[in-house]
Amino acid sequence: MSAKAVAQSYWTKELEEELEELGIREKWLFTTNAADRPFSGSEEEAMEFVEKNRSEKLYDHDCYNQCKQKGCGKLYVADGNWKLCYPHCMWKVPVTVPGFGDVNYPTICPSSPEHGHAFCKSHCMMAKAAGYPSELRLFLEAEGCR
Ligand SMILES: [Zn+2]
Ligand SMILES: [Zn+2]
Repeated sequence: MSAKAVAQSYWTKELEEELEELGIREKWLFTTNAADRPFSGSEEEAMEFVEKNRSEKLYDHDCYNQCKQKGCGKLYVADGNWKLCYPHCMWKVPVTVPGFGDVNYPTICPSSPEHGHAFCKSHCMMAKAAGYPSELRLFLEAEGCR
């Protein structure tokens, strides 16, 4: 069995369980021609439906003190913005998200680096003004990386 087939089976089962928990597993009509019929659509549309519902409420659980202390109901996980291959500027910047208080987010400039450089255009200029090379290899050597 291929990895792709295993992954597909996993997601199909997950989707079935999510639809079951929402009480619509038997109601959802899997079709590529759903028109405007409620509780119908492709597998991908069903996943979008489940995600939209899940993003608006908590999973049922026994909420203990530790759960509350860790931010149950107030903690948001935003994942998938950047994948491992996404190059970003190496300049350290404070990151805030209005309305979210403290965020645990990488404190780096999200702009793309200039080709062959460690930083984005504006941070290249700031590095040079501070007396540091902005070329990736030269910058890493200056910082003791080989
Ligand atoms: Zn909780
Ligand atoms: Zn930058």
